[in-house]
Amino acid sequence: MRFASLGSGSKGNATLVQASDTLLLIDNGFSLKETCKRLASFDKNPEDITAILVTHEHGDHIAGVGRLARKYNIPVWLTEGTRKAAEKTLINVSDLNTFNNHEAFEIDALEVQPVTVPHDAREPSQFIFSNGVQRMGILTDVGSITPHIISQYDQCDALILESNHDDEMLAQSVYPQHLKQRISGRLGHLANQQAADLLSKLNTNKLKHIIAAHLSEQNNCAARVRKSLATALSCEESWIEIADQENGLAWRDCS
Ligand SMILES: [Zn+2]
Ligand SMILES: [Zn+2]
Repeated sequence: MRFASLGSGSKGNATLVQASDTLLLIDNGFSLKETCKRLASFDKNPEDITAILVTHEHGDHIAGVGRLARKYNIPVWLTEGTRKAAEKTLINVSDLNTFNNHEAFEIDALEVQPVTVPHDAREPSQFIFSNGVQRMGILTDVGSITPHIISQYDQCDALILESNHDDEMLAQSVYPQHLKQRISGRLGHLANQQAADLLSKLNTNKLKHIIAAHLSEQNNCAARVRKSLATALSCEESWIEIADQENGLAWRDCS
């Protein structure tokens, strides 16, 4: 099992997870042209995608899903709440499938465990993927850490984890107060310190890759992210990888 990020941040998110011939695209916040360009840089075509999974209806995750699914006839998976909230953008997608946030399901070679998370969307999900041997987790767009999240993300082989903002930088930023409150609130985005606290509560013995994601361009910097996550994991700062907005992150293998 391997994974790659096509890009991560408030201007667009998309992640690839692959096990044998099964290729899942998680979210797509990019235009059709941009998606094809980015897929090509990971040696993939839209025709290779088995299914698209959508975490929630925010534009940076769903803006490019409908167009891609319609043009290449790709099945889309999402919760009933996300489907309702995204009705307009997903109009005429022929193969729409809903899943229950509390039940694992399979798409060919991959098992998908959805995880319900606190975020200001209708019925948001995050995911843990398994090929039966390894576990790879994606956790972004999460305002606060719940006991459910801690139990689900334990013992992953790889983890893409939101490290959205630095509390200090957000407090000092030019953002209006209501936006600061939304971002740092219980249904907003994870701060570096919250991401670090989660890591310190998880069993990370098997962890081979930790990827910080969804970094704010205004209210965070790579150095602070690396420092807080490395402290939590007692590892070298250079071991903390970052999926950025421009280039994402190249393929990483879970084995
Ligand atoms: Zn987002
Ligand atoms: Zn969101």
